[in-house]
Amino acid sequence: MRTGKEQFLRVKEWENYRRIVHGFGIKGEAGGKISKKDWWGNSLTERGESFPLVATRQIHGDGVIVFTGDGQQLEDLWLREGDALVSRLPGFALGVFTADCLPILLFDPFQEAVGIVHAGWKGTARAVSRKAVEKMREAFHCREENILVAMGPCIGPCCLEVDGPVQAVFAANGLPWEQMAFPRGGDKWSLNLQRANTRLLEEVGVKQENIHRVDFCTSCRPDTFFSSRGGGETQGRQLSFIALRKRE
Ligand SMILES: [Zn+2]
Repeated sequence: MRTGKEQFLRVKEWENYRRIVHGFGIKGEAGGKISKKDWWGNSLTERGESFPLVATRQIHGDGVIVFTGDGQQLEDLWLREGDALVSRLPGFALGVFTADCLPILLFDPFQEAVGIVHAGWKGTARAVSRKAVEKMREAFHCREENILVAMGPCIGPCCLEVDGPVQAVFAANGLPWEQMAFPRGGDKWSLNLQRANTRLLEEVGVKQENIHRVDFCTSCRPDTFFSSRGGGETQGRQLSFIALRKRE
């Protein structure tokens, strides 16, 4: 499958990084539903290079998997539970599938390592993005201050209303709720997934100026994005990806 501007949004601040390709998916031309299974075994073609797509079985958890590309892993990675992938292996596209959840891309240009995170409110409450960065340090000796972050479209605080039980999960995990959500009155809050994950990443040493965002609310824009809460198609997911190129 050839990717193009019509199918993926890019972070313009990353245009000059020739070592990687990346994209945040929008509804395809057909607007049809896609699933991991449809994509499994498929490749993305970018700048004349073909990248087999690899992804995990997303469960709204905090599991981070190091993708090494060994045979067994290639065989059954998509059956393994996990919500983040990190890798230094060129030639593969790490992917996540989202509707309202936040896709986060990670890139360390010094260690030449990449990562991808699927962060809904549950994963965010379990600090999955922070754990992905910590795994990049542990596995690849990445320094947090070198890691570049791109956050994609997700449900915005305009549409993500949550209540006391959600707040309780964040509180139980020691996260600064007041910096991630604002009160709507009563037992209701607006949760800002991009801000919450920015906070988590800054806490671990990622620099604010290295965090870029694509600002769309998937729920406000059902014309462009699949959204669970925004109505319309309920099963569709957009694919987001990041890959290290084999050559520059
Ligand atoms: Zn919205």
